[in-house]
Amino acid sequence: MTTTPDLTTDLLLRGEWRRGGAGVFETLNPATGEKLAEVAAASVADVDDAVAAATEALRGSWAAVPAAGKGALLNRLADLVERDAEILSTIESLDMGGPAAMGRGMYVPNLAASLRYYAGWADKINGDTMRNDGYLGRAAFAYTVREPVGVIAAIVPWNSPMMILGWKLAPALACGNTIIVKPAEDASLSILHLGRLIEEAGFPSGVVQILPGLGHVTGAALAAHPGVQKVSFTGSTEVGREILRASAGNFKRTTLELGGKSPQIVFDDADLSSAVGGLGMGLFVNSGQTCAAGSRILVQRGVYEAVLEGLKEAAAAQVLGDPLEESTTMGPLVNAVQRDRVVGYVAKGQAEGATLVAGGSPVDRPGFYVRPTVFAGTNEMTIAREEIFGPVGTVVPFDSDEEAIALANDSDYALAATVWTRDVGRAHQVAGSLQAGAIGVNGWSPLAPQLPWGGTKASGLGRELGYDAILANTETKTVTVVL
Ligand code: NAD
Repeated sequence: MTTTPDLTTDLLLRGEWRRGGAGVFETLNPATGEKLAEVAAASVADVDDAVAAATEALRGSWAAVPAAGKGALLNRLADLVERDAEILSTIESLDMGGPAAMGRGMYVPNLAASLRYYAGWADKINGDTMRNDGYLGRAAFAYTVREPVGVIAAIVPWNSPMMILGWKLAPALACGNTIIVKPAEDASLSILHLGRLIEEAGFPSGVVQILPGLGHVTGAALAAHPGVQKVSFTGSTEVGREILRASAGNFKRTTLELGGKSPQIVFDDADLSSAVGGLGMGLFVNSGQTCAAGSRILVQRGVYEAVLEGLKEAAAAQVLGDPLEESTTMGPLVNAVQRDRVVGYVAKGQAEGATLVAGGSPVDRPGFYVRPTVFAGTNEMTIAREEIFGPVGTVVPFDSDEEAIALANDSDYALAATVWTRDVGRAHQVAGSLQAGAIGVNGWSPLAPQLPWGGTKASGLGRELGYDAILANTETKTVTVVL
């Protein structure tokens, strides 16, 4: 039996752990529905104080750490994250319900990898020297430098909080910014433990501050604050719009990683067993609570029945259970509201005439569980148009490549897609025509620090990870010297 690690529930402000000005809020264990902890809620005054401390650190203690020193601190933090892998994954699993095995196998290694990748960048963020036409007949020497953007607010969702925070924190710090983190109400605890590790690694106070709290209070105050120069947000499309509006006051830079309704396209020449394995993973991982969930499965007519059968088996193979058990492949949804929302979509699918292929029935156990569910339906149905954020997929048949592309692009979202085919020409043609930020052919586009991540349309704005994140976390300054 796993023992509950010590939980940090205070906020981190000016290098001190303390209670919040807005009292506390409760976080539940989604596997039982019982209270897990009371977490400090940051007030608007706490946000003001944190922005002042982050601004001081930006110009003072953090600016004084040489670039290579920033890289060394990020590497030290990665070592501590790896040391505490078990603690971090257990806390996150208790807090948001995902299997701890996913934390150990993916979220913690991904966080450590992001920290190490950007640790390497810290002393390689260079500008260019520019050929130019000179100035009023005189030669001129011109160059660019990349400077930190300033104080960055990182607003994080609950579905894989420490991994997603890594995508924001690591490049922000490598580029010399300071950062204020606002975790989600349902999953602050792994990020607060990370705060302990940030302190232990030796980052100067005020460089990273962590303010849990309510979205419409703490998050909104950060998004509107005139002392914050950039908001890096991952969350729902609806809140993304609010953030963009709030950012207009002082023209904040924004990176918005929002929702999705990602297509998985299976052609009849595909390796079916690997395709079905990939489809099931894309649909059911983290109980479907992933922005890139492959919840629209477009299947060429010749293999349609075989894919339906394969998905039925993939759903039956899921082991619903205690997220801390090694054998569990699917935990609960994060809270009762989310469970009821997903159950509502299942009812809507049936009401609109979709055929239930797997799942759909309630789960008789405490906690917020929903059975893995597969529908045969059309791309017009609500279940194929709206982001469900649960283990519910819709399988839609198609005949030609053109029809597959048209169906795939007929969505408000454009985050990710997979294409399953043995025909290399078709793979490139289809990938070239799909509206999506990340496309995987015969597999999923891995979430690796080297590979840019993000979407277009209602899936968001800008890219995280890779060199794109260096550009997104710096401002270009051009200097011209007339000779
Ligand atoms: P959410 O939008 O409800 O909340 C995200 C964060 O925003 C939380 O920290 C919340 O407290 C905060 N927030 C809420 N209202 C706010 C406001 N008015 N101003 C500022 N901050 C506010 O999202 P969620 O339910 O936590 O996460 C699920 C959503 O996140 C899904 O839509 C999913 O697709 C998306 N997501 C996207 C990606 C991606 O990379 N594209 C990754 C993971 C999740």
